[in-house]
Amino acid sequence: MMRVVRLAAALLIALSASACADADAADAPLAITNVVVIDGTGAPARSDQTVIVAGGRIVSVGPSASTAVPRGARRIDGRGRWLIPGLWDMHVHAFGNEFPDFAAPLLLAHGVTGARDMGFYVDTARFWTGEVRAGRLAGPRMVIGGRLDGPANRTPWVARAATADEARRAVDSLVAAGADFIKVYSRVPRDAYFAAADQARRRGVKIAGHVPHGVSTREAARHQDGMEHEDDLMRACSAEDEALRRELAEAPPDAPPALQLETIRDHARRMRATYDPARCAAVISMLAHTGTYLTPTLAVYQPYMAPGDTSVMHPSAHRYVPRPMLALWRTRLQRAEPSDTSTVAAFFSLERTGEMHRAGVRLLAGTDAPLPYLIPGLSLHDELVLLVRSGLTPMEALRTATYNPADYLGALDSLGTVRPGRLADLVLLNADPLSDIRNTRRIHTVITNGRVVDRAALFGRAEAYARRSGHGSRR
Ligand SMILES: [Zn+2]
Repeated sequence: MMRVVRLAAALLIALSASACADADAADAPLAITNVVVIDGTGAPARSDQTVIVAGGRIVSVGPSASTAVPRGARRIDGRGRWLIPGLWDMHVHAFGNEFPDFAAPLLLAHGVTGARDMGFYVDTARFWTGEVRAGRLAGPRMVIGGRLDGPANRTPWVARAATADEARRAVDSLVAAGADFIKVYSRVPRDAYFAAADQARRRGVKIAGHVPHGVSTREAARHQDGMEHEDDLMRACSAEDEALRRELAEAPPDAPPALQLETIRDHARRMRATYDPARCAAVISMLAHTGTYLTPTLAVYQPYMAPGDTSVMHPSAHRYVPRPMLALWRTRLQRAEPSDTSTVAAFFSLERTGEMHRAGVRLLAGTDAPLPYLIPGLSLHDELVLLVRSGLTPMEALRTATYNPADYLGALDSLGTVRPGRLADLVLLNADPLSDIRNTRRIHTVITNGRVVDRAALFGRAEAYARRSGHGSRR
């Protein structure tokens, strides 16, 4: 996988830059003593371990009896607690929504020490990641996507391409602005897509995202290292795949919204009616073979899985959500109908994710926060629960948010595991996540770059911002 290697080079420069900046100002060493370590490699949990952190990195991990605690180290009692690698949410939209006062504090407070952003103004994203790196803003490590779509997309921060030439120039401009990867969207025309893939390869960045309507999932798997959601897979599993994609590719870009909605519902119905298990198994085995990473984003469908179940909307955490966003969430969900893609995809994805995992498709935990009721950080814990519901063991689910993201990013030597030499991004839990995956929510301490995070301050920051936005402290 040459593409992975090239991305790794680019990313490691970014990551090591961040490590250096923090190491300069690192605090006293930390010792987490007598703790159960789940190291992310897939090895069984090891009890009564002591983990030493210094200079922003994990220095040693070993049995408490034989691991010396450096003089002057700050001790954290790990007795009756579990230590896991910092979590990653591999599908967020963090920068378009008040990053410093909403996504950044909430992700980090929930133990999400790293996130992959799926596209906003790249220079804005670069600015905020610079602030995090310099230690001026508390937030997770961010990997930045630059979004590419067809000419019909009117969103101002999206790069558009109708032709192969435009696609090459768009990729160049996104890379020049500082994008870590190219996020392709559904309406990139076929020729533009292949040109963009080629140009991305030349520039040493990879592409991930939706499978554009003009290309098949099989074709996209040769160019994309990552695929998002399972809507495209759902289409690829339909006997009418080609016809459905052709209709979407040829649809007039300026069709009135009502007509567009009608098409979406018509397609959702047909995808369900023409689902072909044999065809689906073949596509899934192809994805396992190409090593394509898939991010199912099950959490985004959660409100559609159990309509009326308000617990999945986390009402007690609404105080952290800016009021205008909460109002938008409400109307979006009210408009949903059983025939919508989201509702259909909800059930498709839960079943297919388990099937993909059993077939050997590599999975990443990602949420699509802050789409309706996806509270940054908190929703990643929902995603882990849903991954277990789809058939992964708690250990396998944990790895989709730790080891697998580091592997996908080509950064296993610095991230994703609790091993000596890795950056000290850690989450200490009050309960065993392997006996019940919901226990990842029972956080005692979050550590990023070797420093203990002030979680209360982060929650306070988000709550104060939400209140300023007009929400008030009422639920
Ligand atoms: Zn998204």
